[in-house]
Amino acid sequence: TPVDVFDYVVFGATGDLTMRKLLPALFYRFRDGQVPAESRIIGTARSKLSTEEYRGRARDALTSFVRPQDQDGGQIDAFLDLVHYASLNGAEADSTWSNLTDLLDHAPADRIRVYYLATAPNLYGAICENLHNHSLVTDASRVVLEKPIGVDLDTANAINDGVGRFFPENHIFRIDHYLGKETVQALIALRFANPVFERLWSSDAIDYVQITAAETVGVEGRAGYYDTSGALRDMIQNHLLQVLTLVAMEPPGSLDADLLRNEKLKVLHALKPIARENVAQVAVRGQYVRGDVNGQTAPGYLEDLGEGKTSSTETYVALKAEIQNWRWAGVPFYLRSGKRLRDKVSEVVIQFKSAPWSIFPAAPRANRLIIRIQPNEGVMLAVSTKDPAKPDSLTLREADIDISFGKAFATRYPDAYERLLLDAVRGDPVLFIRRDEVEAAWRFVMPVLEAWSADQAPLESYPAGSWGPKAAQDLLAASGHAWHEDQG
Ligand code: NAP
Repeated sequence: TPVDVFDYVVFGATGDLTMRKLLPALFYRFRDGQVPAESRIIGTARSKLSTEEYRGRARDALTSFVRPQDQDGGQIDAFLDLVHYASLNGAEADSTWSNLTDLLDHAPADRIRVYYLATAPNLYGAICENLHNHSLVTDASRVVLEKPIGVDLDTANAINDGVGRFFPENHIFRIDHYLGKETVQALIALRFANPVFERLWSSDAIDYVQITAAETVGVEGRAGYYDTSGALRDMIQNHLLQVLTLVAMEPPGSLDADLLRNEKLKVLHALKPIARENVAQVAVRGQYVRGDVNGQTAPGYLEDLGEGKTSSTETYVALKAEIQNWRWAGVPFYLRSGKRLRDKVSEVVIQFKSAPWSIFPAAPRANRLIIRIQPNEGVMLAVSTKDPAKPDSLTLREADIDISFGKAFATRYPDAYERLLLDAVRGDPVLFIRRDEVEAAWRFVMPVLEAWSADQAPLESYPAGSWGPKAAQDLLAASGHAWHEDQG
């Protein structure tokens, strides 16, 4: 749907995120006719650039990060006409702000303004204060916050307080780009548009759930940032807990943003708190060492950090979460994420219970529903059927009911940012994280962070190119469960 004319002001406009994700996402929406002609995209950063110079950088980014078949020179030129640049120091109340006020003061007061904060998060409070002091926060203004919202509960609260002084909560859009992914939204569709699944969606039929986000890449150029973060903060506290809420929540009354987020929050509140002294029983942390990734030797994490470096930052986490409510009591949710693993895959695996009694020579395998978030997006149900290669007996064989979205819908999968960037213009926060969700998620992971920083649990190593430390298999084996790839 088309949106009203807007000004999109990006703080951190010369940075990696803006170049790689935000500008290409805005370009795609422009190309699809969703950006009204008088709209402006105003980049800001401290670098002293003219608008012409910034447009040159933006052009380079588009030619690098937009698919070649989608690059139409005329469209790129027309898009760049909407791009402006204002050099300013977001954190300082200095005269550089006039570069931005000069641009915005000419716009009608009721024009939608999105302030997208893609700088280091410790600047968010100061930027919002400066926006306020320059009378740039109008009724039609919203602010978008990039992750990470803090490195623990206290720093998250400080960021949220800093922004909350100048913007009401319903004008604050906290990005979790996982929620912008088509296949994560497809989870909502699968559950609540298909009663065939919802009838089975509880401990009555489900044995356990696995949520995986595995990467084959290491820390690449972002080792400095990653070493202060680690997998628990970078992936579990935000993305995987968000996916868990969508898998586990009760049906909301509608797709109203607060009704849906209320249900997600209830799940976060129902997570069984992890006692610090029990962390080693429910969480595994690992760090990759030199190994083989797809036939190529890959260095270990410490080598990636640089010579002479030591670090106990985890590049892998496996966590057993439990949800204390009627629907889910007794059903573990296993979350894991890691770098330099065997395959790149993000998926949810719903492991159903076995048949209560087998009449077959060999017991059938329990059904599994696999929701593939990326790559090869789709949904697959593993079922047992009669093996036609054995006509003389009722021997079973597993086969898949397999919907590959790529084949079924033959359409380009938009990047998660495309949806989210324009939802902020529309003012629809349904796919953004509310403050109470951020806090509940931090509260859940804090004991794990604390135990690890006090070295109360071992740091396991795993070879690059493996599926992670053996301790992660043991975590499931203790309950008679196994990770998806270990099930054959
Ligand atoms: P980056 O490449 O280091 O870019 C930082 C940007 O902030 C630059 O444009 C920098 O430009 C600007 N900046 C720094 N200090 C400033 C100040 N005082 N006033 C105004 N602008 C200032 O970082 P990034 O990778 O793009 O990440 C930006 C944010 O997004 C971070 O919060 C990061 O955690 C988050 N994020 C990034 C990614 C990613 O893939 N890159 C993914 C998810 C989230 P000047 O030096 O010219 O001022």
